[in-house]
Amino acid sequence: AASYVGFDSITQQIEHKLLKRGFQFNVIVVGQTGLGKSTLINTIFASHLIDSKGRLEAEEPVRQTTDIQAVSHVIVENGVKLRLNIVDTPGYGDQVNNDNCWDPIVKYIKDQHSAYLRKELTAMRDRYIQDTRIHCALFFINPTGHSLRPIDVIVMKKLSEVVNVVPVIAKSDSLTSEERELFKQKIRAELVHNLIGLYPFDTDENDEEEIQLNESIRNMIPFAVVGSERNVIIDGKSVRGRKNRWGVVNVENEQHCEFMHLRNFLLRTHLQDLIETTAQIHYEAFRKRQLLALKD
Ligand code: GDP
Ligand code: MG
Repeated sequence: AASYVGFDSITQQIEHKLLKRGFQFNVIVVGQTGLGKSTLINTIFASHLIDSKGRLEAEEPVRQTTDIQAVSHVIVENGVKLRLNIVDTPGYGDQVNNDNCWDPIVKYIKDQHSAYLRKELTAMRDRYIQDTRIHCALFFINPTGHSLRPIDVIVMKKLSEVVNVVPVIAKSDSLTSEERELFKQKIRAELVHNLIGLYPFDTDENDEEEIQLNESIRNMIPFAVVGSERNVIIDGKSVRGRKNRWGVVNVENEQHCEFMHLRNFLLRTHLQDLIETTAQIHYEAFRKRQLLALKD
């Protein structure tokens, strides 16, 4: 048509720019030592992390993480570049006295906000700022089948004030499916009782489909996961899994655990929203407080 001027190419322009730049996704893992944090991360990004520094030797002894450490990876799928920062935390709640054991983790998250704010205030407006803000805290719950420890409730509450918290039941292959379902219900009730509002949050911008998806996520949380760095043979096929007392668990089988739900949630359905929510809600709240404090 004569009136066509071509601004619809803006979607390609944006795509081109974004693809060149790539996406930054920063995850922190929180939970007691031995709950399978490193294993789960390696399972989620398995094939991609094989060349990098990730721990993939199954025979290697379990090392205790003694300090907060960030490891960076760049992974590419169909020309889309994802820069990944995985932040491992010292097993919190391992000590006899756990008072304030969450402080270093909350501080780490705030420090990233602070660093971003400094760069934002000093850098030229249109310059790309290296983003280390944490988009997601994977919170590992001990698969006791009973209830959350008081310390878990406190830490989830503290974390949810500064970051998107995604709780998972660690090593859920140690529970029967009935135990698992009861445990999940119990935990959801405890979250409500303690007024812990977890990600995902609905906004005015959400359409009907997104609202329904968020609702189904909230009804599934915490994800009952199983991680494994090894393959096992099931029906003649080699799959990511583990052998236990009851048989063989196929990590990627939705009848066995909710690993696939978690991975799809993190990487397929909510990656962009986790990033946006971090900037628009958590970072914005931090920024407001900082700028107000500066005025006094
Ligand atoms: P981290 O200290 O939380 O990083 O825990 P690791 O990932 O090092 O795992 C501790 C131990 O638990 C290792 O021997 C793992 O093989 C084992 N493990 C990890 N994930 C699972 C799981 O989903 N189920 C079972 N049964 N064992 C697991
Ligand atoms: Mg570890």
